[in-house]
Amino acid sequence: MHISQPDSVVETVSATVGDFLKSPQVLIGGQSSGAVSGATYPVSNPATGEVLAHVPSCDAADVDRAVKAAAAAFEGPWSRMLPVQRQALMLKLADLIEANGEELAQLETLNQGKSIMLSRLIEVQSSAEYFRYMAGAATKIEGTTLDVSIAIPPGMRYQAQTRKEPVGVVAAITPWNFPLNMASWKIAPALAAGCTVVLKPAEETPLTSIRLVELCREAGFPEGVVNVVTGMGETAGAALVAHPGVAKITFTGSTETGKLIGVQAMKDMKRVTLELGGKAPMIMFDDMDLELLGAAAGIGVFFNTGQTCCAGTRIYIQKGIYEKALDVITNVTRSLSIGSGLDPRNHINPVVSAKHQAHVKACIARGIDEGATPLLGASAPDKGFFVAPELFTDVRQDMALMQDEVFGPVVTISPFEDPDEAVRLANDTRYGLGASIWTNDLNKVMRYVPKIQAGTVWVNSHNIPDQNMPFGGFKQSGIGREHGSRALENYLETKSVCIAYR
Ligand code: NAD
Repeated sequence: MHISQPDSVVETVSATVGDFLKSPQVLIGGQSSGAVSGATYPVSNPATGEVLAHVPSCDAADVDRAVKAAAAAFEGPWSRMLPVQRQALMLKLADLIEANGEELAQLETLNQGKSIMLSRLIEVQSSAEYFRYMAGAATKIEGTTLDVSIAIPPGMRYQAQTRKEPVGVVAAITPWNFPLNMASWKIAPALAAGCTVVLKPAEETPLTSIRLVELCREAGFPEGVVNVVTGMGETAGAALVAHPGVAKITFTGSTETGKLIGVQAMKDMKRVTLELGGKAPMIMFDDMDLELLGAAAGIGVFFNTGQTCCAGTRIYIQKGIYEKALDVITNVTRSLSIGSGLDPRNHINPVVSAKHQAHVKACIARGIDEGATPLLGASAPDKGFFVAPELFTDVRQDMALMQDEVFGPVVTISPFEDPDEAVRLANDTRYGLGASIWTNDLNKVMRYVPKIQAGTVWVNSHNIPDQNMPFGGFKQSGIGREHGSRALENYLETKSVCIAYR
């Protein structure tokens, strides 16, 4: 089922999706099964609130099986494969993702709630491209030769080199906002480096991760190279992080969980990469191109219904354009249609779960209690987990609305006069993932980009990632970087080899 038109409406969900939903299974050592305990839990369709499927609720016993399968594959067939063979398998997987693209996209939209257009273009297309990009990296891993000056005992000479070796079994733990894409960001570089993987998707959105690992099997990866366990973070996730057979943890999720995982990882000195929360500022200068405001709001803020770690949820606008820009952003936000992700004409889709809907609504209520002014007060459909977008003005820097991650369609808008003051306000957060500045003045770009504390700073755009562009956080937004050659390093150890000769 290839994707033909990314913006076509899903009138009828595909029969293969319906079949898959009857009994999704985990995949360990190439075998599909339920949890050892037989337990399952329900996952929902956020657009309706109805149960979509029951998936295995894994615990430590399943995790142990999965890590052992991954360790056996790492020691066995996977370690004997040539880089070019790993590359070929990854390219085959990318083709299979595309070939099953419409099915994967529908599954993602049904489970996560997002627009089918985002599912097709980001979850599917960009994930396939990610595997292709990283497939190329598999054949380009290189160490160095080193001149050394040691001469002990006298007369002995040495020659040194570095080897890059796969770190071992990787625990990949992913969030619910971009399930298939986040899994790809982790599995692709791990495989390119020669590691094996146990994937633990977010409990809310496990379905496309299961399908991805099924496609790995179909592509011909040896048994146990990629495994998936589904279940709760506190059980399956915690057991995976603590398992002695895991060499490396790669985690994307909240800062709160990231800190727990970081502490646990250090107990065993496991390698760890943490991609965490954000509260990205957008700084809009008087001289910006006002025609960009629509895209700033649409892509920078409300993309994926605000459930993006880099979403520009704190907008600072210089006084000269404040009234005009506020007007445009308010009108753009008012014009966004709310509804099911299966119809790509809907810009605002449900948030992922009833729990998250309650959280976003509580953030809005708290903002009002704290004295901020809501500009829209719009209502959302009753059925499903919808929240209408909201803009707030009169927001002080110390309010929760300004400091805490909402992870939904909620934005603060504040005026500023002095650019240095704007940068100070933008940096006044514990997070540091993304930021943007909007100006036509090159001098401002050169002056202020270095002052912004964020892993990515966009200029006249926001929220645009690329597989070749390092991505990660300053401050409490994480440790390490994904994408590009840096991502591969996350999954490699450096070994110095020192050879004596006479
Ligand atoms: P979360 O931290 O609740 O869960 C993330 C994953 O961790 C899930 O798979 C969950 O099951 C697992 N988990 C939970 N507790 C665990 C534990 N004790 N041990 C091991 N695993 C555990 O995050 P979420 O709500 O799924 O995702 C939203 C968060 O992710 C937001 O904070 C968002 O900013 C962040 N995020 C960051 C990036 C980035 O690249 N920096 C990208 C996307 C999302």
